Amino acid sequence: MRRPAVFFDRDGTLMREVGYCSDPAHVEILPGAAEAVKWLRGAGFAIVVVTNQSGIGRGFYTDAQFQAVHEEFLRQLGEPVDATYYAPEHPEVEPSRRKPSPAMLLEAAAELDLDLAESFIVGDREGDVGAGHNAGCRASILVLSGITDRTAETAADFVAEGPREAALWILDQREARNAASLA
Ligand SMILES: [Mg+2]
Repeated sequence: MRRPAVFFDRDGTLMREVGYCSDPAHVEILPGAAEAVKWLRGAGFAIVVVTNQSGIGRGFYTDAQFQAVHEEFLRQLGEPVDATYYAPEHPEVEPSRRKPSPAMLLEAAAELDLDLAESFIVGDREGDVGAGHNAGCRASILVLSGITDRTAETAADFVAEGPREAALWILDQREARNAASLA
């Protein structure tokens, strides 16, 4: 049976935004990130990290440096994730898999047998929100733990302080639907 997923942006959402992180020594998991992943896994969601990494395309860091940072990120998170997808393109390169393109989410759905209509995305930028909508996800959640300008207009279905609050909202949505289908 196809599983629902929660797609997480990485930088500014699960890991502190430091701007083109190229050094594992600068990796710092955000408060609530590990709990969020643990709770959602426990509720049956696949956990998929989807991250734009234009720092590679811009020549700020290499693919190997990205991999080293990501390894440290996963180590500090301390919770398994099902998969990570990253888009290394420079923003001016077309075609692009970068969010708000749904490309990485669609790849994950095909490879992991995911139910996109029951899936969610959590991120700190409008590109994350847009990727969720473009992929046909159930809802897009904007978190204020990254670089978000909280006064800006957002297309998000919900705005959360950080990953913990985002996870609780997702679990509430699921409970509401389960209750409705049992009624
Ligand atoms: Mg981000």
